[in-house]
Amino acid sequence: MALQLRSRSPVMRYQGKHMCVRRVVALAMGHNIEGKVATYKCGNNLCVNPDHIVVMTKTTLQKRTNKVNVQYMHPTRRQRVAAARRASAKLSPEIVQKIRDDTRAQRKIASDYGITQTTVSRIKRGEMWRDYTNSFIQLFK
Ligand SMILES: [Zn+2]
Repeated sequence: MALQLRSRSPVMRYQGKHMCVRRVVALAMGHNIEGKVATYKCGNNLCVNPDHIVVMTKTTLQKRTNKVNVQYMHPTRRQRVAAARRASAKLSPEIVQKIRDDTRAQRKIASDYGITQTTVSRIKRGEMWRDYTNSFIQLFK
């Protein structure tokens, strides 16, 4: 069994043809894969674990992928989306830095900048206005 390029799904030779390993596994498990796709539910594109393989139609997979993308975004893409949002935001990176450095009560800071206390809290915790210049950003969710 030869695994192909890193980001692609694993492929192997099966009955003289190149076939997706997951399809072969799904077949061996007795699934009817005719007109369907054998995909994974664990988020690892290289996964061929029979317990993680699900057989579904392309339409279902597309719906599912769209949902998954909301939760998981590639860091580069997330950075681009954030940049677009920040262009039309109330706050600026300078103000955000001031908020982070401000040691007063969050409610006081919030009323000073005309934002909610929740926003202040999320900024301080790094959930909002994440610092994308930090190269360790990929380690965080
Ligand atoms: Zn898996």
